Amino acid sequence: MSMFTWLTAFKETEKEKLMYLAKVLQERAEPGYQEVQTRSIWTDFAKDHSLPFHCMMEGKAPVITLGDYQHARFKVVFTADLDAVWNPISKSWMHLCGHHVQSIHAFALALLYQQGFFSPTVAIRLIGCPAEECYPAFFPTNASRFIPGKQILYDQGAFVGASCVLSTHLADDISKRAVVFARGAYGLVWLRLRHCAPNEGAMHTDMIAHIKDFLHSCFVDMSLVDYDVYIRTKVVHDGCIRPSGDELVAFLYKMDVDAFLVTEYPPLLQDKNLVKTSRRLLHDKYPEVTSLDSILLQGATDFGVASDEIPTLQLFVGGTQHITHDPDFTVLDEEFAYLFAGVFLSNLIQLLARDELVMKGRRT
Ligand SMILES: [Zn+2]
Repeated sequence: MSMFTWLTAFKETEKEKLMYLAKVLQERAEPGYQEVQTRSIWTDFAKDHSLPFHCMMEGKAPVITLGDYQHARFKVVFTADLDAVWNPISKSWMHLCGHHVQSIHAFALALLYQQGFFSPTVAIRLIGCPAEECYPAFFPTNASRFIPGKQILYDQGAFVGASCVLSTHLADDISKRAVVFARGAYGLVWLRLRHCAPNEGAMHTDMIAHIKDFLHSCFVDMSLVDYDVYIRTKVVHDGCIRPSGDELVAFLYKMDVDAFLVTEYPPLLQDKNLVKTSRRLLHDKYPEVTSLDSILLQGATDFGVASDEIPTLQLFVGGTQHITHDPDFTVLDEEFAYLFAGVFLSNLIQLLARDELVMKGRRT
């Protein structure tokens, strides 16, 4: 199977459809667990292209299956986030994290599958994942615990048997045609210490110092009624302990602190072999696209849920302006941001399947 350039991979009508759907998804930005219209765009896409479709998470997560997933030798899960973030300036939900683009990358994989690009040994499960963003982050008075979408999908077996799990995300403020290979992302444990007035903050200095002994960093927001503690957790492969949010709550309870777990994101560790192969593919086949490297990212993501067990890669795509979650965040280079990643990942999947570069269900 020959490689093709990303600009000629799609028929003109397909390209127009992907660009059109990106606009529609952008206009219909919705909050986590309420991605009703976004999900119907997935449903319609599957129907229009006669693709097998079902839902997970009690109907909240749309799933399109390419190939015979049960019997395929090389199974890939591709996740696309469905939810948007709150823009406090316009007071509306907007895709300031570029999540609408991830659905387009999933649809691009589906179109290339239908073109007969993949060998029959490959099957891909495209999952539209609700609620990557932490809902209470936008409304601090929200008092219920937030469980990110991929955690529920993981618990329901969405990633079982996958040879690798792939995803994309727009990169922060990189206007050029570039792909960023990040080592991973720190995890986050977000605790709310109840019945603590801001002036009691000093009382907890010792406690935070203790937590810092085994965690990467910790910062405190005392602007809220309660007293919020955000703890960055290290990746386990650094040889550090990674306490769970529940363990931290129990630890604080012993210290007479009434803590509530707002949410928890596991650290993401990108698979070294997937990064290496991707970097080589980019270098060999797409010299017009710049390759950039990044250390661990500060922004927490639920994409790390499977990365301890299954080789995982999230590709960060340039063509953007401003930092994600910034009210001014925009896609500058639509052609690149929307169309490149699907083609690139298709080539990567073919390469991995051919050379069996990732071992099924375990790290390499
Ligand atoms: Zn995001």
